[in-house]
Amino acid sequence: MPPRAVLPAGVSSTSFARALGELRKVVGPAYVLADREELAPYRKLMIPAAEEEHEPSGAVLAASLEHVQGVLAVCNKYKIPLWPISTGRNLGYGAAAPATRGQLILDLKRMDRILAVDSVLCTALVEPGVTYQQLHDHLQERSIALWLDFPGDGPLVGPIGNTLERGTGATPYGDHFAHACGMEIVLADGRVLRTGMGSLPGSASWQVFKYGYGPYLDGLFTQSNFGVVTKLGLWLMPAPAAYRTLLVRYWDDQGLAAAVETARTLRLSGTIRNPCRLSNAALMLTAASRRAELYQGSGAVPNNVIFAAARQHGIAPWNLTFTLYGTSEQIAPSLDIVTRAFEASGGEVVSDYHDGSQSNELSLSSFSLLDWVGGGGLAWLAPVSPARGVDAIRQRDIARAVLGMYGMDYLAAPTVYGRDLHHLTAILFDHDDLQALQRAKDCFRDLAAAFTANGYGLVRVGIDFMDQAARSYGETRRDVNRALKRALDPNGILAPGKSGIHR
Ligand SMILES: Cc1cc2nc3c(=O)[nH]c(=O)nc-3n(C[C@H](O)[C@H](O)[C@H](O)COP(=O)(O)OP(=O)(O)OC[C@H]3O[C@@H](n4cnc5c(N)ncnc54)[C@H](O)[C@@H]3O)c2cc1C
Repeated sequence: MPPRAVLPAGVSSTSFARALGELRKVVGPAYVLADREELAPYRKLMIPAAEEEHEPSGAVLAASLEHVQGVLAVCNKYKIPLWPISTGRNLGYGAAAPATRGQLILDLKRMDRILAVDSVLCTALVEPGVTYQQLHDHLQERSIALWLDFPGDGPLVGPIGNTLERGTGATPYGDHFAHACGMEIVLADGRVLRTGMGSLPGSASWQVFKYGYGPYLDGLFTQSNFGVVTKLGLWLMPAPAAYRTLLVRYWDDQGLAAAVETARTLRLSGTIRNPCRLSNAALMLTAASRRAELYQGSGAVPNNVIFAAARQHGIAPWNLTFTLYGTSEQIAPSLDIVTRAFEASGGEVVSDYHDGSQSNELSLSSFSLLDWVGGGGLAWLAPVSPARGVDAIRQRDIARAVLGMYGMDYLAAPTVYGRDLHHLTAILFDHDDLQALQRAKDCFRDLAAAFTANGYGLVRVGIDFMDQAARSYGETRRDVNRALKRALDPNGILAPGKSGIHR
């Protein structure tokens, strides 16, 4: 007998076996996984958490909306918690695993149809299993001149999972939820809701106008557990006639403040249209070196070691990148404006830089980050602040102090989206080393607490930290989430614990 997986909380083994039998009838026997070995891909974590705490009871692979409805009916009947995933690679936040032990994974990767691409209105409609690579290939094969915006791990992951997490990318369409238009959602009771214009029978405007009539609902289905999203409309960027990616290097560690001030001004004036990403020296170095090649001492790698090694690769303490898009006639005057502004702020401008993530080139190069330490452990932390130099410096100092206490390096990409700055920070560790894992866990907790205590809230966290993050936003907000949960999912079967929302 193969080893059995865990049971969902409060469900007997007899009931669970019966439920699995009914689920097999819904999706086909090959698409219900319940042996522990088969579930290995759904257990694997990069975050500093124990796999046992997030172990799924099984996985059901639905291939259609009717399958999703059938699965929900069985789970309501047996009160089995169900954790929906799209491409299931939420790496550095929990991958495919559920927030609490014993949930059944609802894997939607078999729903992988690109349902529509409108090259005139620059929209697409996709199912959850569609990857950015698949959509990219679809556009290229048909010579459709539309660009995608994708996360760093773009080829492996997809627009629905990323957008529902309110993920980000590097072009002017980098706020993915802001560039989504229209959802199809299966509610816990099996009813199908189409948001925006999609509720109107025969509507031709589902992917072009977001709001429809009445309250705007789409946000409720992001970072939540109120429904299963089975279709999402996307806005795609018309390929620009030309573009120019720039790098601005600040050779002084304090240059971070001036960089943020200048980037915000140019973003808000519309001169720069995409997020301005500032990478620190250590983060940039991960593409060129491994930690052990530079330093074997105890504690975090000292700044002087990082800066000296970085300089050899032309990397400054702070490195800002962005792209100018348009026609060459539009780009020329903007290039003058931004060059003058960044030089006046103390930056050194390299006006012909390459960063494919800002220009529709999918790649896996950002995974080199994981080689810095080795061992596959990664947790992202992204506190949000106003896009002001003084806040960026304060966040940098908080991060260095807390990470330093745990001997961890400060690897950061503070990104100016407009008025807001997201101080994206990576905690890297060897996942196979139990002591290192515990240190990363403690460090994450303390760093999150320090950011929050300074008013810098976390806007996306891993499955092990959702309750804590939700608590930091206060009881009223939690009560409202709970009220919505009870109204939309009275049995509490959908993803309990997601974003700290329980019944
Ligand atoms: C090297 C590297 C670089 C990265 N770069 C970025 C980056 O630039 N930007 C960024 O945003 N992230 C980045 N990530 C983090 C993460 O891997 C991506 O955000 C990825 O897109 C998320 O995984 P996914 O798309 O497979 O989503 P999934 O894992 O499928 O979904 C994520 C979560 O959304 C919910 N969900 C998913 N589908 C549904 C559904 N259909 N209905 C209801 N709920 C659902 C579930 O709670 C699920 O756990 C990076 C990770 C790594 C390792």
